[in-house]
Amino acid sequence: MNTPALSRHVLQAVPSCAEPMSCTQCDAGLCLYSKKVLEAVHLMQLGARAGLVSQLTGLEKATANRLYRQLHGTPSPPGQVPFTDAWYRINDKRMLHTNIVWRLHQRLSQTERSKGRILINLFETYTQLVAKPLLNLTRTAFVPQLMAMDTWHERRCESCGIHYATPIESNSTFCPGCLLYHRHRCYQCGTALSPKRGGRRLANCGHCGAELMGGIRH
Ligand SMILES: [Zn+2]
Ligand SMILES: [Zn+2]
Ligand SMILES: [Zn+2]
Repeated sequence: MNTPALSRHVLQAVPSCAEPMSCTQCDAGLCLYSKKVLEAVHLMQLGARAGLVSQLTGLEKATANRLYRQLHGTPSPPGQVPFTDAWYRINDKRMLHTNIVWRLHQRLSQTERSKGRILINLFETYTQLVAKPLLNLTRTAFVPQLMAMDTWHERRCESCGIHYATPIESNSTFCPGCLLYHRHRCYQCGTALSPKRGGRRLANCGHCGAELMGGIRH
């Protein structure tokens, strides 16, 4: 069965519920199950593997696997290797996107939504907000876990004052947005920095002499 046909099939199977938004609390067993399947299909269309879908929706692993195979025509790749936060820390752009995802997650998790629905809304909003999304669905799902595992925490940016998510052991005190901005402007006087000379980044601002932050790593 191809993807649109399966979605249509599943949609038809959903009983019409008086309040579609409150269906996560709906007592009707079949209604709740159909909601889970719909969420699962949606998550898989966005790139989720069967393991993650089963975790988020509470569907049996075997059911999620079967659904994945029906949708994509191939078995779901095996469960991901437990991964570190190394991917997120490669550069400030990834850190910036990770923070966009973290902010959105905080907003969405305050609402009455299922875990699956939160991730669907989160990922769709993120990919619409930025021109070139860097995080795929799996990496997006992992961001709140980084915080929950206390691998990351929130810190206040010394430059702009916002709270941002960053690895606990990072020694930078500037948010990724400020780091990216100040790559091109002096953080003391705001003067645009002249292009690097001979392939090397300037160490001091030509206008006020302040030491530049180019070398800071997460
Ligand atoms: Zn219902
Ligand atoms: Zn900042
Ligand atoms: Zn300066």
